[in-house]
Amino acid sequence: MSKVRVRFAPSPTGLLHIGGARTALFNWLYARHTGGTFVLRVEDTDQSRNTQEAVDVIFRGMRWLGLDWDEGPDGKGGFSGDRGPYFQSQRSSIYAQYLEKLQSGGRTYEDGGALKFRMPKTPGVVKDLVCGEVTFDRTMEPDLVIRRKDGSPVFHFVNVVDDLEMGITHVIRGEDHLTNTHKHIALYEALGATTPQFAHIPLILNQGGSKMSKRDEGAALGFYEEAGYLPAAVRNYLCLLGWSPGANEEILPVEELIKRFELTKINRSNARFDGDKLFWMNGEYWRSMSDGDFRKFTQEFLQRTRPEASQMDAKMREGLLKIMREKVRTGRELADWMDPYLTEEYEYSAESRKKQFSNPDAAKLLGMLEAGFASLGGGMDEANAEAVCKRIAEEAALPKPAKVIHLLRAAVSGRTVGPSLFALLVVLGIDRVKARLLRTKKLLEAGQLGVTA
Ligand code: GLU
Repeated sequence: MSKVRVRFAPSPTGLLHIGGARTALFNWLYARHTGGTFVLRVEDTDQSRNTQEAVDVIFRGMRWLGLDWDEGPDGKGGFSGDRGPYFQSQRSSIYAQYLEKLQSGGRTYEDGGALKFRMPKTPGVVKDLVCGEVTFDRTMEPDLVIRRKDGSPVFHFVNVVDDLEMGITHVIRGEDHLTNTHKHIALYEALGATTPQFAHIPLILNQGGSKMSKRDEGAALGFYEEAGYLPAAVRNYLCLLGWSPGANEEILPVEELIKRFELTKINRSNARFDGDKLFWMNGEYWRSMSDGDFRKFTQEFLQRTRPEASQMDAKMREGLLKIMREKVRTGRELADWMDPYLTEEYEYSAESRKKQFSNPDAAKLLGMLEAGFASLGGGMDEANAEAVCKRIAEEAALPKPAKVIHLLRAAVSGRTVGPSLFALLVVLGIDRVKARLLRTKKLLEAGQLGVTA
């Protein structure tokens, strides 16, 4: 068999849909599995939608998922923006040659200024590696416009020409293109070319059971980058949409996914997108990240979403990230948890106001806590911080220290949930803890921590 050549051929629409990302991934996996070539071809012939931003979204998504492509018109592939890929908008002369070829073969005619291709009326048979043999009745099939009145060639035509020109051996794409395929085959035949093999991969459905559209939450790949998911987790999850690595195994390193990927194992039935499962899977990757990878990831994510975090005391920042890591699963959650420590002017959540600061004893207890921590001198650790809370609960004749502990958390963080409290106190350091207790007490006494609507 000749060497495998596959392609991802997105149209720049302004977002990289999860379905498109999965198509790119399956092509990439197949190329890497077979030692073949993965081509990226931007189908940007629709001038009205063809913007640099829309193209950049595609590159960004490919880079983020680590789907490197192998070649471009300059013979180079890879990720650097100036190499490859192919752009249909730069290939008009090639399409003109092929149009001429079809015209001289007598298979076309002009109609109202447009050029039409005479579709055969015999049944159109598509032999698909996933869908099997599918036959299309063509007795009523209209002829195919291949060049519009304005002179621009039509999708079906340029798509076929490029697959032919680029020596594509396997067309792996979404099932929504299955009904086009008999038209494409007719064009191949008219051009005297052999058709590639086709593999139409199942649609991705939303939780409601209809085709996932761009209006569905989480339908754009960029959503996950913004939310601070790990690209390896998203890539792993996308693999499972329509394919299974087998034996109930789901989480596998990419080398293993490449090793096991087979077109013939792609499911026929539609895949259901499950955001909760992706979130869960991200958590699995999150927990197993090495410390080095975690540091790199958080550095980049915070740089982008909380640039002020770079001003923080480095030791405190590292300490906070370490204790938060165990409790969160995405970059966004982590960044959100960092917020109270980016400034000493932190806010108090509605929950903390309602649950902690509406207690009439709160100010008195905060004062006792501040004095308690002051009595530790410079040396606070988790054990003696906890002992302070216990002692104060006893002094205040409270049955359990929990009340004091919850109030303490709300005072030093403005939140009712967060990292393990005593570890947090140690990371913040005794001076900051005392200052935060006093600040909260002052605001409370000034009537500024009332319940907000
Ligand atoms: N530009 C087409 C699309 O985005 C490509 C179809 C194909 O892969 O052949 O749907």
